[in-house]
Amino acid sequence: MNTSAVSGRLASLSPSETLAMSQKSNDLKAQGKDVINLSVGEPDFFTPDFIKEAAKEAIDKNFSFYSPVPGYLSLRNAIVSKLKKENNLDFQADQIVCSNGAKQAICNVVLSVIDPGDEVIIPAPYWVSYAEMVKLAEGTNIIISAGIEQDFKITAAQLEAAITPKTKAIILCSPSNPTGSVYSKEELESLANVLACHPQIIIISDEIYEHINYIGRHESIAQFASVRDRVVVVNGVSKAYAMTGWRLGWIAAPLWIADACNKLQGQYTSAPSSIAQKAAEAAYNGPQDCIEIMRKTFERRRDLMVALVQNIPGFQVNQPKGAFYLFPNCSYYIGKSFRGTTLENSADLAMYLLEEGLVASVGGLAFGAPDCIRFSYAASDEKIEEAMERVKKALKKLA
Ligand code: PMP
Ligand code: GLU
Repeated sequence: MNTSAVSGRLASLSPSETLAMSQKSNDLKAQGKDVINLSVGEPDFFTPDFIKEAAKEAIDKNFSFYSPVPGYLSLRNAIVSKLKKENNLDFQADQIVCSNGAKQAICNVVLSVIDPGDEVIIPAPYWVSYAEMVKLAEGTNIIISAGIEQDFKITAAQLEAAITPKTKAIILCSPSNPTGSVYSKEELESLANVLACHPQIIIISDEIYEHINYIGRHESIAQFASVRDRVVVVNGVSKAYAMTGWRLGWIAAPLWIADACNKLQGQYTSAPSSIAQKAAEAAYNGPQDCIEIMRKTFERRRDLMVALVQNIPGFQVNQPKGAFYLFPNCSYYIGKSFRGTTLENSADLAMYLLEEGLVASVGGLAFGAPDCIRFSYAASDEKIEEAMERVKKALKKLA
């Protein structure tokens, strides 16, 4: 069939760069190449046993029928309790919608509130999928750039300057993928103070890395009364409980947005998997010590990775305060060549490191930061050490 028959909407959509680089790395591995994959961001831990047991029990107890569209009430109640206990936020079960990962949860919200021409503010560096979801909804991305010199965080003044009468939403992410930056309570409050003056703006707050935080308690913009009734909190079990493949994420939203997402989801996925829901319910209701064990491990690896990258000439790096990514500025290497081929941008650099260094990373272009490159440190110490050695060697060959 003629591939030009693909809809305009899809033709203009970029494939997910994180998943594409991971696939390339897996393809090379299948060819027998010893690739170290630091591209895709997912915990390298196994899902804790008590969660796996709950899933097995759910199968045996025949949780094999369609669940309610927004998820089982018992799961939504567990999420309501989590929000109260951990975040001091008050939500009702009918404000929670569970989906196939936080990814679908965010896309549901974007498709539910964005009309063609609506503007959506996205601070860059941003997670690869936000801008593409906005494109899918035929909205307009308004990117605010924050470089390494401002720890990749936008200021209230930058936000104020980006708002127009057409602004419909903003997508915030803290702790951030890809930078690892974490907004402090004061910084969030200063953004909330700006947004309080613009009541038409919906605030999508992606908090999927809530528990991977090295500076203390998680802060949500939903805590500020001036904007609370317009905040959609996004979270899920992928990162906190090492459950990326289970595909279970959720929103806690104003009722009208939850209702809209419910309607949308009812037409195109029905609900997330019943078994994944029972596993997630166990995760929220069960012992939470697994989270701290993983967090501590990530923190140690963060320190290791930062020390190694600081040793690589030409890379400029900040110290991430959360998540499990390092996002060095690599502009020193853009324009350099290897065997007659010039690296035009950070995507070329990532491809070069994969082919020449056998280390998979993701170029910053897809995150709205063409001068940077992302390495995930959700890998063992040995892999991190070996990978950074390979990167250093490969970079030395560039002239
Ligand atoms: N938001 C961010 C910032 C992420 O890094 C991810 C991970 N892919 C997601 C959302 C989606 O997570 P999931 O769909 O696995 O719940
Ligand atoms: N959050 C991960 C990443 O950014 C998973 C891949 C994805 O969903 O994009 O690498």
